[in-house]
Amino acid sequence: MSKNSFDAPSIANSLRTAKHQPRKRFGQNFLHDTSIIRQIVDSVRLERDDNLVEIGPGMGALTEPLLAEVDAMTVIELDRDLADSLRIRIGANSHPNFTIIKANAMEVDYRELYSETRGKLRVVGNLPYNISTPILFHLLSFADVIQDMHFMLQKEVVERITADVGSKTYGRLSVIMQYYCATDYLLTVPRGAFNPPPKVTSAVFRLTPHTDKPVVADDEAHFAIVVRETFNHRRKTLRAIFKKSAILPTLSEEDFLACHIDPQARPETLSVSDFVALSNYAKTIDVS
Ligand code: SAH
Repeated sequence: MSKNSFDAPSIANSLRTAKHQPRKRFGQNFLHDTSIIRQIVDSVRLERDDNLVEIGPGMGALTEPLLAEVDAMTVIELDRDLADSLRIRIGANSHPNFTIIKANAMEVDYRELYSETRGKLRVVGNLPYNISTPILFHLLSFADVIQDMHFMLQKEVVERITADVGSKTYGRLSVIMQYYCATDYLLTVPRGAFNPPPKVTSAVFRLTPHTDKPVVADDEAHFAIVVRETFNHRRKTLRAIFKKSAILPTLSEEDFLACHIDPQARPETLSVSDFVALSNYAKTIDVS
């Protein structure tokens, strides 16, 4: 029996965890399906010396099997009660290289977890769905120190992130994510795999930040505006969108041709490199 089993705070905490009421405001849906947990952990394909970071470990459903595969791991948990229980369950004695950061994952400076010896971060998380997009955008700002990210989100969002150009779900999130990362849909996770079950089906996907982006926008903020503004009118033609927009310049037939883009096309038929070409070109024209 482990040393921890006999100390009073440990028992008190285990009881608290056992009784832990899932907190809605923290997006708490805990995984309990061991077969799904195994599939998620396997999909990450860990190496022992990986610099592994888990966001939102909760009661440790993914943490313990992940920790079995690496020498060192850092977890970031906002709920202090859960972080304390985890500290007791995964003892510092048996796991000296297990670090718990009690913090909001949206405020963490991920660069501090990187070092040349530890290597780039491999981030894993069953994310709180209500704040998934801001967390993803926060992480993208550290793309240069991240090797890859494996996340669980609602299936519908994962489909949008990983959508191919021309498909029904292809949109703003697909273009922005695929500008920075390669994206892979990995597995579908039914509601019943969680406690309490969420309202929607979930899915696990991988984001691998490009070390060399295939296409580069001259001004990434402008690129993001062009993508947002065009998809705000996804049923219109590009010609009409640029003509009507107060932020984008009106483009002539020749302008579109210079970007190798059909002015009659609709946003969902444009690849990431088409959007980059449009943004780089439009940036050179005054909006008047
Ligand atoms: N990984 C666990 C728990 C998933 S629930 C499992 O699969 O069972 C989501 C977890 O994220 C909860 O533990 C919740 O407390 C935590 N969380 C919510 N918002 C967070 C934030 N902003 N930063 C870090 N953790 C957060």
